Amino acid sequence: MEAHTAAGAKLKARVDAGRWIVDCDCGAGNSTHPEWGIALCYGCGAVREKVKFPKEWKGVEKELLRRPETVTRNWLSGETVAALKRENAEHGVGND
Ligand SMILES: [Zn+2]
Repeated sequence: MEAHTAAGAKLKARVDAGRWIVDCDCGAGNSTHPEWGIALCYGCGAVREKVKFPKEWKGVEKELLRRPETVTRNWLSGETVAALKRENAEHGVGND
């Protein structure tokens, strides 16, 4: 199998259980990170060179890291930092 650069629109990253990922067309979840900006798929060989991250990604990480359970550290594209703060407050996750 040959690696190929995936064409088309930028994939939007999301956070799943504390990890930045993108959903590949083949169905695999590929690890990524705002500081990398790329994702590689070990399922189909796609190379994604333009993954889209939120401008406020550090704020997203800050709020998610307040959550003691890793499985609850989830974020979807479009969710605001304010929404994460509100969810944290609703679940008794304290601020600084
Ligand atoms: Zn793939």
